[in-house]
Amino acid sequence: MKHKFSHFICSTCGAEYDPEEVTYTCPKDGGNLDVILNVDAIQRDFSPKNFMPYPEASLWRYLNLLPVHEPGCPGTPLRRAGWTPVYTPKRLATKLGLRDLWVKDESPNPTASFKDRASAVVVARAMQIGAEVTVAASTGNAGAALAGMAAAAGTQAVIFAPKTAPAAKIAQLIVFGAKVLLVDGNYDQAFDLSIQATENFGWYNRNTGFNPFTAEGKKTAAFEIWEQVLRERPEGSKPLAIFIPVGDGNIISGVHKGFKDLQALGWLDQMPRIIGVQSTGSAAIANAFHTSGETIKPVQADTLADSISVDLPRDGVRALRAARQTGGSYITVPDEAILTAIADLGRVGIFAEPAAATAYAGLVKALDDAVISSDDPVLVLSTGSGLKDVKAAMQAVSEAPVIEPTLEAVKKAIAWKK
Ligand SMILES: *Cc1c(COP(=O)(O)O)cnc(C)c1O
Ligand SMILES: [Zn+2]
Repeated sequence: MKHKFSHFICSTCGAEYDPEEVTYTCPKDGGNLDVILNVDAIQRDFSPKNFMPYPEASLWRYLNLLPVHEPGCPGTPLRRAGWTPVYTPKRLATKLGLRDLWVKDESPNPTASFKDRASAVVVARAMQIGAEVTVAASTGNAGAALAGMAAAAGTQAVIFAPKTAPAAKIAQLIVFGAKVLLVDGNYDQAFDLSIQATENFGWYNRNTGFNPFTAEGKKTAAFEIWEQVLRERPEGSKPLAIFIPVGDGNIISGVHKGFKDLQALGWLDQMPRIIGVQSTGSAAIANAFHTSGETIKPVQADTLADSISVDLPRDGVRALRAARQTGGSYITVPDEAILTAIADLGRVGIFAEPAAATAYAGLVKALDDAVISSDDPVLVLSTGSGLKDVKAAMQAVSEAPVIEPTLEAVKKAIAWKK
């Protein structure tokens, strides 16, 4: 089989592996593997002008920069992952005192979160290597995405999720026809169990910070930011600051990888600053960032932002580097700030789940702490839909009054109008 990438490199020890040699992490030290593209071949055949002979409104427009073959499945949700909108909410920018603010909203993805990017590419990889069953441990979104993409491709998914996952996410898993196992434990326990099952049953595992192809799917968000925002920027602009919510650290690593790929190709003028945002209740990577070194100490995660509630981040080392190597930073925000962020985004028409709103809460904090100034161009990555966790959304806003079906009652209820 001809591979569309040259080799893997371990992100911790630097060992190199041929495409056929390894499947998941580094056999020596368990480090995450970077997929290295055939940069010379891509440069020979393509330029920013012609790299996209597939003008799809999806991440498959970047097929020539992805390490998988054309996945087939035309006319299915697998072909609709990615190519999400970038909004420029003027009122929000004014409120924050920012000149340029973009919000990239991932909720239009087929299963309503950023995770579809990774799952679409992993399912394409699974089909390429002939894997019949794919498996993932997930706080909900990664599982929903894998279940949805596997359903689109007509293959079987098995999902391990903590039984405390929000109901909407569990409903998605079941409706998409996955075999769903709700673990009476937390995400970290579900993760370990899924690895054991993978080894026992020979399934193909999509776990975040384990399967090297998830970051390859996630990097497409960087390609989109490049197309949708960076290529329009006037020369000599300040670097774009990108705010990304962080749990395991695979989204931030993937976005960084996308920009590094573009840089290796010579297609990126200026590396954006990448700023990771964690909940103060789940801040293992932020803690490590603010001490020196790359040792990540596990925490006892406790946050209402379930998608970023992680004791031991599985992609922490690369997630640290994403901020360190780009002049970025890590910021932590408490759950109350996350709820406020849900309400603020809602008022410009963007409905974010708690983890997604965390990025915006981080921007507010960064402005307070002068990590960002008013003339910095800023992009906030809102990673998933608020419909995923309606219970949390209702904590962010006040309840609607229940009224008698009379005009009198209406008059009383809209007293605030005066
Ligand atoms: C998974 C997820 C994140 C965090 O991604 P990591 O790769 O775990 O850092 C953020 N927001 C949402 C909505 C997610 O589903
Ligand atoms: Zn290694």
